Amino acid sequence: MSDPDLAIVSIETTILDVPLIRPHKFATTTSEVQPILLVAITTAGGVTGHGEGVVPGGPWWGGESVETMKAIVDNYVTPYILGRGVDEITGILVDLERIVANARFAKAAVDVALHDAYARHLGVGVHILLGGAFRTGVDVRWALGAAPVEEVLDEIEEKIEARLNFAFKLKMGALDPAVDTERVVSIAEALDGRAGVSIDVNARWDRFTALRYVPELVDGGVELVEQPTPAEQIEVLAEINRLVGASVMADESVQTPHDAFRIATLGAADVLALKTTKCGGLQRSKQVVAVAKAAGLRCHGATSIEGPIGTAASVHFACSEPGIDYGTELFGPQLFAVELLQTPLDYSEGQVHLPTGLGLGVELDMDVVKHLARN
Ligand code: MG
Repeated sequence: MSDPDLAIVSIETTILDVPLIRPHKFATTTSEVQPILLVAITTAGGVTGHGEGVVPGGPWWGGESVETMKAIVDNYVTPYILGRGVDEITGILVDLERIVANARFAKAAVDVALHDAYARHLGVGVHILLGGAFRTGVDVRWALGAAPVEEVLDEIEEKIEARLNFAFKLKMGALDPAVDTERVVSIAEALDGRAGVSIDVNARWDRFTALRYVPELVDGGVELVEQPTPAEQIEVLAEINRLVGASVMADESVQTPHDAFRIATLGAADVLALKTTKCGGLQRSKQVVAVAKAAGLRCHGATSIEGPIGTAASVHFACSEPGIDYGTELFGPQLFAVELLQTPLDYSEGQVHLPTGLGLGVELDMDVVKHLARN
């Protein structure tokens, strides 16, 4: 620690339940609120940095939830890092590996809060800590839950009309595969090339089902197939990737640099879904991107439906990391019925724009935060 003002004097965790604009239907669950673990790290100098622990809806995705993250941060991270400096980001993250295995979503909340606090102390944006921004905005595609054709088409037309999004991802896996495939092909046909359509099965199909329906979806106009089969079955993903002409994206299959290495070695995907949350924060995300780049893979700036803090962190990352070269889906706050920021993130012309203030460049509306806090 180069300055006593940098010493961490408190780490507060608060679970927020944020209502959504509409129920978001994943393969195995439907969310009406998005729980967020807000982590606030305060220094002796009086600077507070925020990070978010967020998984999509609950523990179904990867085993973590806001409740497990809160327990990990309160009981194991906090006692360990109190008194250390917020400029010791690398050292703290390396040491945490000895205290807590996996738990990457929880670690991401801590990593981002440290970056926010340190950048605020220095009087710069978080992107400066990541090497500086080389762009000021990134393309955002919109994700639609497993809803009926007309409903999905109305929502897509609304987004195109408002010039908010020009590419769309359809969630699959909740319905019977034949019915679901017919639904998605009807949507792709109705759009007739006016907007890109990709699908995300969230690892819910077995090999047999995927071999039967993925080619049909690709013939029907789907341009990107995200994680049709179980996370650990990378060989099956590779088989599907060889079978279809469209691009295959790995999501549940990739959380660590070594996961990226295995995917690359087996030719299992063309694109990696890079979530700063599931990778364990901004530092670890850089390592995953580096492996992807060495193997010639593209990276998509993906989301766990983070709120504005987590989303801002991913925007700083994407704007300072040329390796995020397959667009993003950093739409999390747009799915929220309540605004958590004093000034909302800027979404326009199909992009989200880099916030320009100190740290993450966003300021929470603390009255709203208090109102949404779980008792
Ligand atoms: Mg996904």
